[in-house]
Amino acid sequence: MLGLLIINCAGDTQLAHSIYTYISDRIDNCHTFVSIKEDEIEIDRAELKLTDEEVKMLLDSFLQSNPELEGYKVIKFENIYTVGIPPENAKLELLTCEMCGYTTPFYEELYAHRWAHGI
Ligand SMILES: [Zn+2]
Repeated sequence: MLGLLIINCAGDTQLAHSIYTYISDRIDNCHTFVSIKEDEIEIDRAELKLTDEEVKMLLDSFLQSNPELEGYKVIKFENIYTVGIPPENAKLELLTCEMCGYTTPFYEELYAHRWAHGI
């Protein structure tokens, strides 16, 4: 389904701004369909006719062009892409959905997931 797509940077507003600039430069020069709010970027995908693969490619190429962001990963859930470092080197602490057992290292991801259950 096309519609609003969100890129969440897990509280990193500086990272969000870099991604916003990177994406805008490539797909939305006039800053009409891509907007930023604190650590979240919103993309009006219907207007831009962006596919999931194109969004993932944009984020992956952004990470690859920034060597200092090594270890950062893009995790997609529904229409939310979370960009951050999964805490796998630290003590891996997975958050678990109490309804179905789904696990994720990201709080944002878990909240988004719970939404899907209608909680
Ligand atoms: Zn669940």
